[in-house]
Amino acid sequence: MTIADIRATTVTVPLEAPLRHSMGAHWGRFVRTIVEIVDDEGRSGWGELGGGGESAENAVRSLLPYLKGHDPLQLEQLRWKIMNPTASLYNNRTQLHAAIEMACMDLAGKRLGVRACDLLGGAVRERIPFAAYIFYRYGDEATGAGGETAPDEIVAHAQDLKRRYGFTTHKLKGGHFAPDHDVEVMRALAQAFPDDLLRLDPNGAWSVEQAIRVGHAIEGLKNEYFEDPTWGLEGMRRVRQFVRIPTATNTVVVNFEQLAQSIRHDLVDVVLLDTTFWGGLRQAHKAGTVLETFQYGASVHSSGELGIQLASMLHLGAALPNLGSAADAHYHHLTDDIIVGGKMAYRDGMIDLPKGPGLGVEVDRAKLAEYAELYKAVGGYAYDRDPGRPGWFSTIPEMHYADPALKTAHVGSRR
Ligand code: MG
Repeated sequence: MTIADIRATTVTVPLEAPLRHSMGAHWGRFVRTIVEIVDDEGRSGWGELGGGGESAENAVRSLLPYLKGHDPLQLEQLRWKIMNPTASLYNNRTQLHAAIEMACMDLAGKRLGVRACDLLGGAVRERIPFAAYIFYRYGDEATGAGGETAPDEIVAHAQDLKRRYGFTTHKLKGGHFAPDHDVEVMRALAQAFPDDLLRLDPNGAWSVEQAIRVGHAIEGLKNEYFEDPTWGLEGMRRVRQFVRIPTATNTVVVNFEQLAQSIRHDLVDVVLLDTTFWGGLRQAHKAGTVLETFQYGASVHSSGELGIQLASMLHLGAALPNLGSAADAHYHHLTDDIIVGGKMAYRDGMIDLPKGPGLGVEVDRAKLAEYAELYKAVGGYAYDRDPGRPGWFSTIPEMHYADPALKTAHVGSRR
């Protein structure tokens, strides 16, 4: 079995409501590129990466000369072909490789009749726990969902998510409003969920001093970790010196060079591994085993996945012995998926590892076509733009004070 063709399709799938974060917003939908690798026996393997459009699709297809005739099981050769570290100075292909590796593991698994996680050593768990990913949301006229900004509104949203999905860890995507507003919300969540774990993640929006002040303000809560309170490895080191909450990152340790520095200099406690940012499921797993060796925590990051990438996250979570925390997923914000059978189900805050070979999910081609058409109709959006704040740009660390409306959480916060 060798690779015969590679296809790429951009889709956009609606969210229940637009999600606000420190750099901008997700405008009510996610945009993803679905990668299909076809072998010479007509089998398909599926991969996924963030963003899309003609240039992304062309970038995927341009790798066909590298891939044609390659055996999908030869994954280490694939890494060097596509992601040679020196050639990468000129060709940044980390996320392209991630989607291709996902598709090759799917294909190879289907050929051998084994799951993707079996290619990593097998599953140590069959159900993967997830955290509630809680955002400040704009209201959505079509679904009637969203519009939460005040502490009691966020608590009601979190209670609804817990009722629907069973989450026992609650992660607030902060950094959108002034830091003191996030502190108020965290205290309200702690009061509403005394038995559950909390996380605060402002996406690196605060200065070291702001981050230390917020860290001290929430230190008494049942915090699991304090995620990217500031930007940069040195900033994270400084915050860690002063705040007695384990720190975590998905932004400043995203490759093996940074991982080595972080461990050597003891900079961050928990690394959230992403099956696209790190260059693929196998690369994320490898990083996890390095963390295990040095007894640092590993968690699973979410970059706005549909079902294919979610499956890769499930296989990562299943294979990592040191998964010490519930995984992140934006998945519960989606209204639909492109996989056969529709959205995967949560049970008691967990999702079952798919049982089929490869990634264990199949793409519903009618849904793929439907959401490809939707992308053609509505186009993409910029992660660092906010439809509720036209003319605003995130500039750190002043951004939260540049817009007078954001000094008070309740002013100008709804569309
Ligand atoms: Mg994060």
